[in-house]
Amino acid sequence: MKDILSLSKKVEDKIQSEFKKIDEISMENTKKVLNAFNKYSISEIHFAGSTGYGYDDIGRTAIEQVFADVLGAEDSLVRTQIISGTHALTVTMFGILRPGDIMLSITGKPYDTLDEVIGIKENTSSLKAFGINYEQVDLVDEDFNIEEIRKKLEAKEYKLIAIQRSRGYSSRASLNVDKIGKVIKYIKELSPNSIIMVDNCYGEFVEANEPTHVGADLIVGSLIKNLGGGLAPNGGYIAGKKNLIEQISQRLTAPGLGKEVGATLGINKSILQGLFMAPHVVAGSMKIATFAAKMLEELGYVTYPKWNENKTDIVLAIVFNNEEKLIKFCQGIQAASPIDSHVIPEPWAMPGYGDKVIMASGAFTSGSSIEISCDGPIRPPYIAFLQGGLTYESGKFAVLKAITNII
Ligand SMILES: *Cc1c(COP(=O)(O)O)cnc(C)c1O
Repeated sequence: MKDILSLSKKVEDKIQSEFKKIDEISMENTKKVLNAFNKYSISEIHFAGSTGYGYDDIGRTAIEQVFADVLGAEDSLVRTQIISGTHALTVTMFGILRPGDIMLSITGKPYDTLDEVIGIKENTSSLKAFGINYEQVDLVDEDFNIEEIRKKLEAKEYKLIAIQRSRGYSSRASLNVDKIGKVIKYIKELSPNSIIMVDNCYGEFVEANEPTHVGADLIVGSLIKNLGGGLAPNGGYIAGKKNLIEQISQRLTAPGLGKEVGATLGINKSILQGLFMAPHVVAGSMKIATFAAKMLEELGYVTYPKWNENKTDIVLAIVFNNEEKLIKFCQGIQAASPIDSHVIPEPWAMPGYGDKVIMASGAFTSGSSIEISCDGPIRPPYIAFLQGGLTYESGKFAVLKAITNII
């Protein structure tokens, strides 16, 4: 333990240059948030909220304007009625796609929980069950397969093109906003009518721009990840082109009702304060990931990304090549969490996931992964995905405990 502490001091000295870059991005995003709050005159009146149908909820309207502005979008849906990131993506896909349409993923197989939504795995309520087809192009050398994308777009009309920014539960690289912008430009030239949706989960505020700033028609994510800043009690967001948000809102609520309904049940203040905190909280979790990556590198482990690589999401993948170490590491994170630190997580068959998964999450908000959390599917090469942390200090404490646990 003493060795680990002295190593951690050296590591922290070495990573200060990365911290400086992270602070600069946090400043940019903080400016964006405060400018949007100012533009829409956010006041205490917006905290009041609504019940029942939720008509005329001026707080909800202001929140959706602020989110759109910050994200470089025309409009947004930011709702407590969106259950999770998976639900936000589901509503978006069902909102846009119609029987006979084809959806194309250009970042390989999407996040595990979308298997049954798309129909990669049988489900009587999948897009496939509604006659909506799915195709994918895998990444090559951790980048878009431009040649294959071109062939597809020249052969057929694709209604929706999906891009996943973050690695999800795979060891592939995450795709930064610059790369995403370039591929969007390329697609728009070949297939101007295709709607481009980016699964932005874990990516928000990691860079100074979002995919919507570089041409994405829609971005989608969860409020118990980055943009909730650890304060939003639940919810998700969808942001993008005004006409598309309008169409998706008809699926989220009901045709004819759209954006006009949806009570906020007292959460407006948490959403606004969460967004206000988010640039700083995201910066903290990037610092925790940087610290963990350098510590683990010193101890001989491979991480994606490396400590000094530019980041586009808050996820750190740690390759253990060993089932027991993966489990022990996650158990160490749990033991250092604020809530349920006395509980020992074990691998289990979680709904929506193919393999057994171990999840360490001792969070104030159940399942929140902007709070320190670590999880991994029990399959070779036994990778742990570490993310979040509401404060740098608590995240560092958890990383040190987890490392002690595997030594
Ligand atoms: C977290 C995540 C989702 C959706 O997750 P929920 O747990 O349903 O909020 C989708 N895609 C990616 C890349 C994610 O990281």
